[in-house]
Amino acid sequence: MSSADTASVKTLKNWIGGEWVSSTSTDIQDVPNPSNGGIVSRVAMSTRDETAAAIANAAEAFKTWSKVSVIKRAKILFKLEQLLERDKDELGDIITAENGKPHNEAVAEVGRGIENVMHAASIPNLLMGDSLPTVATDVEVTNYRYPIGVTGAICPFNFPMMVPFWMFPMAIACGNTMVLKPSEKTPNLMNKVIDLTVEAGLPAGVLNIVQGGPDVVNELLENPTVKSISFVGSEGVGRYVYEHGTANFKRVQALTGAKNHTIVLNDADVADTVTKTLSGAFGSSGERCMAGSVILVEDGVADEFIAKFTEAAKGIDMGDTTEENYYLGPVIRKQNQERTFKYIEEGVKAGAELVLDGREGVPEDGYFVRPTIFERVTQDMSIWTDEIFAPVVDIVRVKDLPEAVAFANAHHLANGSCLFTDSAASIRYFRENIDAGMLGVNLGVPAPVAYFSFSGWKDSFFGDLHANGKDSVEFYTHRKVVTAQYKQGRFNK
Ligand code: NAD
Repeated sequence: MSSADTASVKTLKNWIGGEWVSSTSTDIQDVPNPSNGGIVSRVAMSTRDETAAAIANAAEAFKTWSKVSVIKRAKILFKLEQLLERDKDELGDIITAENGKPHNEAVAEVGRGIENVMHAASIPNLLMGDSLPTVATDVEVTNYRYPIGVTGAICPFNFPMMVPFWMFPMAIACGNTMVLKPSEKTPNLMNKVIDLTVEAGLPAGVLNIVQGGPDVVNELLENPTVKSISFVGSEGVGRYVYEHGTANFKRVQALTGAKNHTIVLNDADVADTVTKTLSGAFGSSGERCMAGSVILVEDGVADEFIAKFTEAAKGIDMGDTTEENYYLGPVIRKQNQERTFKYIEEGVKAGAELVLDGREGVPEDGYFVRPTIFERVTQDMSIWTDEIFAPVVDIVRVKDLPEAVAFANAHHLANGSCLFTDSAASIRYFRENIDAGMLGVNLGVPAPVAYFSFSGWKDSFFGDLHANGKDSVEFYTHRKVVTAQYKQGRFNK
């Protein structure tokens, strides 16, 4: 991109108290299109003071928003849902340009976000409390739910729309206000969403966007007005956010890294399994917390499965996703490409068999990694211990299902796991014995729909209440339990 072009690139503003405000920060970063390096926008690393101003605005807005009737809140969400449907394609274009995932996956992601808005719009049902009329003579107990106040949200780059939508629709539906920080690598999508929230009638200060990095995060973690933190991102940062947030007496949900194991048994439908595991491993360039990055395949089907899987991976088309809807786009940044190449080198050095080398034939422009397949991977190799977050898959031959489950359970990350089989007994064994929160049976990416919680286990999640489903209502509310005596004596005369 020429300097004349870059001069016209806009620096994104923050949305605070219902106004677009420029950051005063001098730390301004480029947001490149990962397919070609062209600059999509610039983003300021906003200051702690700017974050504190957003928190103060959210606190002010809470005073009125928390009293708005639940029906009015739901109506705004219904309107937002319609606007998101209307602009689905445009939102998909924004995601593709800043994240690199192909347009069809970007639009599917928008669909996932919309699903969350629909879930949140059913808030009148979800917020209902419960009561018992006769716990003692003339005594009744009623449980009421209330919003918790100003909530904070910290998002990753890999789902610029879906992840923020795990957070703000339910938070505001419950009557809270929010300060949300998108990833500095994909900051554009949420600024467009703000325009739609305004069109839907969301009052000023209810949802605030502060762009930036660690300074914004640290203000959210330390500012006493913020009552909760919803975080999605890598394991290391998630640990920090959980420790620091809870040390500051906030409720924290931190959804973190993953290494998801897929098990293929001898009785699996091989053609169907290849299609689905291919998408699980290489879809969105492997930059999914539900990516099927390890495949454990039973001996009897291993040769056939590996041959067909490799053949299919070789046939994957890759390119600039802003030009065409290629199956495989780039990874997010040059550093991620280089980091992936380093892992491939380490895998080879450690003795794994490199069946397909994703370093070969990658274009100069953009940050591409072709599908990469390793065989004969062992548990001491960094390609197994670490989340690579790229289109790299480890294949391991196993003698049976118990060996596969034991292999998967040895990992400290446990977001999801899939099983391909035709056997009910195997499915039951898998469900009862695997240590992972989200399971797929004959599916490659078992990301639960919004009405169920996103339930990673072990070090893939720090906290108690997960995102989405009924957990999200619990997370964004607290309760009053009222025990009351209403003496009936005067009516009994
Ligand atoms: P990341 O941890 O680098 O960034 C996440 C957020 O934390 C960003 O907003 C970033 O600005 C902030 N951050 C980064 N470093 C920080 C620091 N030192 N101090 C304070 N804040 C900091 O994650 P990412 O690369 O954007 O996203 C990919 C990761 O997210 C992967 O590990 C993936 O598995 C995970 N993820 C998990 C889920 C899940 O449901 N478990 C879903 C999506 C993504």
